[in-house]
Amino acid sequence: MSLLSLRWAAMGEIDPMEHPDTLSDCGGNRKERCMQPETAIHTTALNKHYGDVHALVDLDLDVYVGEVFGFLGPNGAGKTTMIRTILDEIRPTSGKASILGMDTHDESVEIRRHIGYVPGDLEMYPSLTGRDTLTYFANLRGGVDWSYVETLADRLDADLTRKVGDLSSGNRQKVGLIQAFMNRPQLLVMDEPSSGLDPLIQREFQAMMREVAAEGRTVFLSSHTLSEVQRVADRVGIIRHGVLIALESVASLRSKAMRRVELEFGSQIDPAVFDSVPGVRDVLIDNHRAVLSFDGKMPILLKALADRYDVIDIHTQEADLEEIFLTYYRDEEVAG
Ligand code: ATP
Repeated sequence: MSLLSLRWAAMGEIDPMEHPDTLSDCGGNRKERCMQPETAIHTTALNKHYGDVHALVDLDLDVYVGEVFGFLGPNGAGKTTMIRTILDEIRPTSGKASILGMDTHDESVEIRRHIGYVPGDLEMYPSLTGRDTLTYFANLRGGVDWSYVETLADRLDADLTRKVGDLSSGNRQKVGLIQAFMNRPQLLVMDEPSSGLDPLIQREFQAMMREVAAEGRTVFLSSHTLSEVQRVADRVGIIRHGVLIALESVASLRSKAMRRVELEFGSQIDPAVFDSVPGVRDVLIDNHRAVLSFDGKMPILLKALADRYDVIDIHTQEADLEEIFLTYYRDEEVAG
């Protein structure tokens, strides 16, 4: 696999050392900063225009080997266009992309041997059963372990005996997921794959994605749903009007999210103690208790308090990423 760009170094919070299993050496007399994660997907200034509609605008993106990457954005943001472009279903207006180190246009046939794909508009032969459909794909690809297909079908509670055309959309989607997973591809590219799945099956599907990443393979997941992405993804890219407007680890997003903090002290406290702590808002003090909103760094808050007071108890509510995400969407509405 080819060595890829050093652009991660300029991407602030993306720490390749968080992905130690995916580091490639640079050869020769290397320094630590020469270590770089291998990328499963790499795009450089990718543009796709449909007349006046700029569906992708100068998209620079690296998806690392071994991660689950969530690609989020509102309707019409460019998610499907990005996927169809890198899979060589449509041609970019300009720019380049590679998958697993291979050029997405020049080596598209070879790339297909290594990926599993769930398109947003999944179409299958309605008169074939799920089993016939999967057999057809297994024969096309070769090397599929049928016992693994049965395991996947069990896990997703998929009925492979019925004709695909007779299945509900969620049950049909399960057949689509199995065909993508069944040859254990190096990269799974999935466009809104959870649509129609009930919550229990969604959980199982999320576990399956995490297992893929744990095996050092990669998942690229496009979604509208932050809750799913936050549960399963290592990193998130948010796209709006074809522009990548945010690219962060879920952990980093979480650390920035507003959380509610309740504190109990051994004595009456002076509200001014919070003035020196960045990120504190809406402080309410009631005798020995304080309740506040906080999006700063927890160690700074704790130190400021513990230096002056006896902190007896602390309770924080899990950070709500929904609010951050909605902010991006609200901005989108304003901009749109
Ligand atoms: P959704 O979440 O609704 O599926 P998306 O993020 O996948 O949306 P795209 O389907 O990539 O968005 O569309 C991006 C933009 O490109 C939209 O403005 C869409 O109308 C436009 N577009 C997509 N395909 C075409 C096409 N074949 N011809 C003209 N415009 C198109």
